[in-house]
Amino acid sequence: MAKVYMKQSAPENPITRRNFIELASATLASAGFAAKGNAETSSRDPHSAAFVGDFDASSLHGKIALEEHFALAEVFDHNHAGKNLPPAFRSQILDLDEIRLAEMDRGGLELCILSLDSPGIQGVPDTSEAISLARRANDHLAQNIAKNPKRFRGFAALPMQDPQAAAQELTRCVRELGFVGALVNGFSQVGAADSVVYYDLPQYRPFWATVQDLDVPFYLHPRRPLETGMRAYEGHAWLAGAPWGFAVETSIHALRLMGSGLFDEYPRLKIILGHLGEGIPHGIWRTDNRIYRGSISLKTQRPLASYLRENCYITTSGNFRTQALTNVILEIGADRVLYSVDYPFEDVVEAQTWLDHCAISDADRIKIARGNAQKLFHL
Ligand code: MN
Repeated sequence: MAKVYMKQSAPENPITRRNFIELASATLASAGFAAKGNAETSSRDPHSAAFVGDFDASSLHGKIALEEHFALAEVFDHNHAGKNLPPAFRSQILDLDEIRLAEMDRGGLELCILSLDSPGIQGVPDTSEAISLARRANDHLAQNIAKNPKRFRGFAALPMQDPQAAAQELTRCVRELGFVGALVNGFSQVGAADSVVYYDLPQYRPFWATVQDLDVPFYLHPRRPLETGMRAYEGHAWLAGAPWGFAVETSIHALRLMGSGLFDEYPRLKIILGHLGEGIPHGIWRTDNRIYRGSISLKTQRPLASYLRENCYITTSGNFRTQALTNVILEIGADRVLYSVDYPFEDVVEAQTWLDHCAISDADRIKIARGNAQKLFHL
């Protein structure tokens, strides 16, 4: 039996390598990228599949990222009181100026579409407070975008506690502040701290009509389940957040939207999911198969996978894993995959080093890094 082994690296072949880099440079230039270095000095060696370490800035500049967060000082300090966060993190998430721009330069990011951190407005049960906080957050973001309009764009924070107010705030943000869509942190607490309201419910249909009319994407971002909804996590609080629970929470919400017939009613809606799809691309065939085999009747006209392919876009935020990316590309196509980091929770250089070197075609790499975002946001 043949011995199974992992090939560590291919032998150096300067001619092949130079040809590759020249070809890549031409492709990049035509897509509006600047390629750093040249064939002789670039460390972007396509044969170096196991590359992880001391990459000297990027070879691909001009990336666009869209799950990049900021916080309002008052909210951040209230939410994180008593928690032992490193001071650098607080500075990074509050800053909308030099610290962020330096990190963007370090990570080859030309443009970031910024959003309020989770749970943001969704965690404010008092509706009128939620409405005024959303306005404050969006105005604060708009003022900072105006200082660096070539580097920053904005997603609206929305008071989903009141669907009509949310539609109005989104309209204001798009028409008056120039925002390119919304980012909402999962379900909203409405009226009471332990309430959980999802947006497949009938009262949100007019809101979705506004989103479709404005022709802007809606980013469904994770949040933690409430303390009262944590039975499955008891004794394992670490599971409830980003390590696993975020994906559970957000995938269920996205599947509720799909299963509610929302995308039959509003076929031009565009939903963005982060973290390489929150697990949905991996599971969607089985979901549809069990719906079909089990004769489960849903209010939908088509298999859920078709809504994933036609109404959803997926970003790489916080999930820099080639195996998972390849699965997403196979399920929905590279035209619907967009680069994101999830700054400041993730490292801009780790993210870019992965995307610059992962085993996909350069044509797909360029689309994911920039081209798809240019198209989706009309940039
Ligand atoms: Mn995030």
